[in-house]
Amino acid sequence: MQKIKLYNTATRKVEELTPHSEDKLTMYTCGPTVYHFAHIGNLRTYIMEDVLEKLLRYAGYNVVRAMNITDVGHLTSDADTGEDKMLEGAKREGKTAMQIAKYYTEAFFADCYRLNIKKPEIVVPATDCIPEFIELIQTLFDKGFAYTAGGNVYFDTSKVEDYYCLTGHSADDLMVGVRDDVTEDLNKRNKTDFVLWFTTSKFGEQELRWDSPWGYGYPGWHIECSAISLKYLGEYLDLHCGGVDNIFPHHTNEIAQSEAALGHKWCGHWFHPRHLNDKSGKMSKSKGEFLCVDTLVAKGYKPLAYRLFCLQSHYMKQLVFTYESLDNASSAYDKLLSRVASIKSAAAKENAVADKDKVEKYRARFIELVGNDMNTSLGLTLLYDVLKADIDSVTKLAVIEDFDRVLSLDLVSASEQALETGEDTSQLEELLLKRAEAKKNRDWATADAIRDEIKAAGYAILDTPEGAKLKKL
Ligand code: AMP
Ligand code: ZN
Repeated sequence: MQKIKLYNTATRKVEELTPHSEDKLTMYTCGPTVYHFAHIGNLRTYIMEDVLEKLLRYAGYNVVRAMNITDVGHLTSDADTGEDKMLEGAKREGKTAMQIAKYYTEAFFADCYRLNIKKPEIVVPATDCIPEFIELIQTLFDKGFAYTAGGNVYFDTSKVEDYYCLTGHSADDLMVGVRDDVTEDLNKRNKTDFVLWFTTSKFGEQELRWDSPWGYGYPGWHIECSAISLKYLGEYLDLHCGGVDNIFPHHTNEIAQSEAALGHKWCGHWFHPRHLNDKSGKMSKSKGEFLCVDTLVAKGYKPLAYRLFCLQSHYMKQLVFTYESLDNASSAYDKLLSRVASIKSAAAKENAVADKDKVEKYRARFIELVGNDMNTSLGLTLLYDVLKADIDSVTKLAVIEDFDRVLSLDLVSASEQALETGEDTSQLEELLLKRAEAKKNRDWATADAIRDEIKAAGYAILDTPEGAKLKKL
């Protein structure tokens, strides 16, 4: 097992990840709020978390990872006021909250699939864990950390010794993404107290409600991540992930309530990738038009070109999305594939076996570079070094395949078509993506026209379980 160093929000230092137990590393990820499609900013966070999980496995850790799906309780404001986001989605589309949750959960995982983001082994919708939330809230009551006021149940942050332990900053410094126009909740004893269980809501039509010792209602957002993590990953969590906006209040509140219930330190390492924004500032689902994977595919981009775009920058750097930079990543991706294709073609003629020592040497160097605060861009530089290294093609290919366990750019399989035909098929592949989009929109005329265009270029389309593929006629 090789050591991995990572910036820890809680200590403000890059430090070694040290799991609590020897046989596994527990990792928790805040999942999406499924009231709309994930935008490419959200997906940047999930790509970087995916790289981290794969890097840890690559380095030899037995990662056990859980993720929630927020299908109830996430209000449009972090200040415990505003509308429930699921209700907002349901109203917008004239569906029930559960229909909305199912549709957008599936859409989220379809996007993850296209971006090679592995699904965590444990994925739990919040609505599946209501008894666990109630039990945890009851424990907080029993230990004197919860109170009722105006019908809701609140967490009393004044009872916690170091509420701001995650960053050491006060609320005013941490108000990332919290709106100014929210009305103060007069039931709270302290400004930072937060709702554990709602029974009174100005939105009487809130359709998802359950019985509880405190009345018919629904859980607050923060309690779901604590309860799900405790249930599936145990009392000691090694690594907790989420976008930078989750630091406050979400993760700050998770720590407060988890440690209040447990009576000991809960999570050792906090990973917070920075945001991807557009030129106007924040990229957000509530802003109406926003960029998602489908938008990129419709414009002819390969989803994995977007993954490469993300890997080119450090996760701690805020990124501004422009089509110009995506174009650059896109052409870098196509060139990468075609270089791997020629290596593959040369390797097929070599009739040799890979030099294990060399593969091992490169692997150790890769972990050393990428394992130093997840420096994916240095990992890519090493990949380019391998492409031009003076080693045999079979070994080269083995190293590329090995790095791709972490990078997940389909470097060898996606270069297959270029290899089979010896031709640059990138434009036809873009057409394939457009055809998939047309089929999804039941636009059969466009789909047929694209098929004809591809046929005229000398290729048939094979529809396979992994998606459409080109076949030379
Ligand atoms: P949500 O679906 O709003 O709960 O967000 C899902 C994940 O995306 C969370 O980890 C957020 O912190 C993260 N996130 C939200 N906005 C952005 C953004 N513009 N760039 C990167 N990550 C984001
Ligand atoms: Zn969470």
